[in-house]
Amino acid sequence: MNGPETKVAPNFIRTIIAEDVKKGKNGGHVITRFPPEPNGYLHIGHAKSICLNFGLASEFGGQCNFRFDDTNPGKEEVEYVDSIMNDVRWLGFDWQERLYHASDYFERLYEWAVALIKSGKAYVDSLSAEQIREYRGTLTEPGKESPYRNRSVAENLELFERMRAGEYKDGEHVLRAKIDMGSPNLNLRDPVMYRIRHMAHWRTKDKWCIYPMYDYAHGQSDALEGITHSICTMEYEDHRALYDWFLDNIDVPSRPRQLEFARLNLAYTVMSKRKLLQLVKERFVAGWDDPRMPTLAGMRRRGYPPEAIRNFCERIGVGKRDSLVDYGLLEYSVREVLNLKAPRVMCVLRPLKVVIENYPEGQVEQLEAINNPEDASAGVRAVPFSKEIYIERDDFMENPPKHFFRLAPGREVRLRYAYFITCVDVVKNELGEVIELRCVYDPATRGGDSPDGRKVKATLHWVCASRAVEAQVRLYNTLLNRPDTSDETNGATFKDFINPNSLEVIADAKLEPSIARAPSGATYQFERLGYFCADPDSTSEKMVFNRTVTLRDTWAKVAKAEGVKKG
Ligand code: ATP
Ligand code: MG
Repeated sequence: MNGPETKVAPNFIRTIIAEDVKKGKNGGHVITRFPPEPNGYLHIGHAKSICLNFGLASEFGGQCNFRFDDTNPGKEEVEYVDSIMNDVRWLGFDWQERLYHASDYFERLYEWAVALIKSGKAYVDSLSAEQIREYRGTLTEPGKESPYRNRSVAENLELFERMRAGEYKDGEHVLRAKIDMGSPNLNLRDPVMYRIRHMAHWRTKDKWCIYPMYDYAHGQSDALEGITHSICTMEYEDHRALYDWFLDNIDVPSRPRQLEFARLNLAYTVMSKRKLLQLVKERFVAGWDDPRMPTLAGMRRRGYPPEAIRNFCERIGVGKRDSLVDYGLLEYSVREVLNLKAPRVMCVLRPLKVVIENYPEGQVEQLEAINNPEDASAGVRAVPFSKEIYIERDDFMENPPKHFFRLAPGREVRLRYAYFITCVDVVKNELGEVIELRCVYDPATRGGDSPDGRKVKATLHWVCASRAVEAQVRLYNTLLNRPDTSDETNGATFKDFINPNSLEVIADAKLEPSIARAPSGATYQFERLGYFCADPDSTSEKMVFNRTVTLRDTWAKVAKAEGVKKG
């Protein structure tokens, strides 16, 4: 088993694999791999790739390998390695004992490079990086052969060996495949296979000072592991000819097939690790796990359940055309899971004190509240009630307009699980702001039902003042203020569209006492407000909660409202 029952909706890759299996290709086996480069945290785009690779493997009774694509020392860090493994497990997948590294194959890759030199298919070039770029030509012009292209095999072998031995400086030589400088596919114009980089590698330390390029390492790593289907994103489509060229010209133990699909782009955010690193380094966010980040670590901290992310990945499907997925679809997937699982509690974000004049001084009663109407087995809990409570500031208006049905002077409403109350007076400060309401309650309505069938038009959530737990609550908005920032023409970058209001901190919310010691990561529905998740920043003095998602799809509402205006 590679993980939870993963559903992969029908897609063209699945169809290709099913055909290969039917034809008995690779002995009917399916082996995929997830190959992250440890140069950043995983994001929701990687989740798409993880679900696809592990999902297809499990569907066809095969296996999915986990491979660190660690050919780039300098950009790679152990912090990333640990976070990546943690995030894949959190998402629900298990690579069992199949943890591999491209660096496991450095010796084999070197031997194969030597073999290519011997068969006249690789050579050491001594042009500078800039010259190599110049000689490469363009899409409309063929490339030019390097003056070093026809070095003898013996000279190439010696130079390559001395490159490995550390006799040259970075950039002095490279090893290139000898293919075709006139090829219409730029990737086939004698691509670089190895470059010199005097830099320690997190695993091989100082053993190597030459490192293979991705294109040279990837296919051969796939072949060594017996990967049958090497699934990658569309930008590698033009590299497939090179992927195949290496496999055709090297004595590899198996023959993988590269298949490409369109990467996930999500509206109002960025997905490139380079950009995410900028957000972290330049302190636009608090870290890789900031709940506004599209990283799996950020989503976990925000309270997104892994199951919701898997469902989302299934919903978006797999195609070949680039598209921008609506953030609302991800939020829908999150709500769908939390609605079934998250216990309901009461929390007041912007408190307004209510004194119930006819309630006995000093009395505290415990009222029964239902934990989850979607799940009878979740049971009930006791919620304290007393003479002073808090309600939401927004739930009161002194001069209500026509369609405001909540509390107002002289009006009666229901307090959830408690009593009917009627507002009899309003207390203001010297600025004329309402700071307290005076109400009376009807003891006959205990539990929130009126024995005489009297109707009220609103039910409010509330928290007992003397037992309330103080909390800081963080509300999140999109990180960017436009859906698509990929167009960087006119000098604009995604940083020009960072939403300055992506985080709103509510300093003094009031929680019901039942969640005073909620462990970090615990998710609740705050009645009428949304889903919230306890943050690791919580202390014994002050709880911190993140808003995971609002209750309704406010996005759809906004779009609808705009549509109404326009139409
Ligand atoms: P980035 O552009 O974010 O740096 P990457 O492709 O360089 O991404 P890798 O660590 O090499 O990052 O990615 C590991 C795997 O995840 C690759 O197979 C890659 O194709 C896939 N992947 C990366 N980003 C996405 C995405 N947005 N949608 C789908 N798959 C993705
Ligand atoms: Mg990559």
